[in-house]
Amino acid sequence: MIMEKVFKIFVDFDGTITQQDVGEEIFLKFADNNKMNVIIEDLLNDKLSSRDCWVQLCAAIPSIDKSELDSFINSMIIDPSFIEFIKYCGKENDELFVLSDGFDYYIHRIFSNNDIGNISVYANSLQLINNKLIPGFPYYDESCFSSANCKRNHVINHSSEEEFTVFIGDGNSDKDVVEYCDFIFAKNDLLRYCESERVTFFPFKDFNDVIKKLTDLKARKRLKKRSRAQLNRQKAYTIE
Ligand SMILES: [Mg+2]
Repeated sequence: MIMEKVFKIFVDFDGTITQQDVGEEIFLKFADNNKMNVIIEDLLNDKLSSRDCWVQLCAAIPSIDKSELDSFINSMIIDPSFIEFIKYCGKENDELFVLSDGFDYYIHRIFSNNDIGNISVYANSLQLINNKLIPGFPYYDESCFSSANCKRNHVINHSSEEEFTVFIGDGNSDKDVVEYCDFIFAKNDLLRYCESERVTFFPFKDFNDVIKKLTDLKARKRLKKRSRAQLNRQKAYTIE
């Protein structure tokens, strides 16, 4: 009997599904830029965790108007190939999850602007109260430094050892999770990280590249999991 290969697909949002890093763009537009530059530099030098970074960035916006924020979010553009990718996953029965270290507030808005529904989204929360941005971190785990939403935990919770896990991302917040996935698609900062840390990955420009490669992987008679990722997943299971 041939066992059907099951793929679970996890996708970053900012800079991967959207063309811009929406979180960053919001703070570039609305926060005190001098304060912001110091915060971002500390983040990139690993002096600041992602969670502390978001808390400080939100505090660096003295006041924000909801309609201004919303119309700014409305100007953000998604990569059109992501729409094709959703169709591909639907056709293939590959379950798709969005794992973002950004905020639910703009992700839901951008998805609804593009008529995208029915995708599981795990992200940090953001509320606007009295013209202030109040972040929340429902999926925080202190063992994940580079992402306030611990992406690794979602991969572990939503996959089993018989399934193949795929991660698609571009940046800093994906550094922890790539150690737990079998197939990594990386661009920009994540690509450089994978190169320097010797994480096996496929480079990609857009989701058409991902579709091509996945089609290719699925056609293989024998497909191997990444043993380093498998080991890390098992370690995480036993700790919990
Ligand atoms: Mg990103």
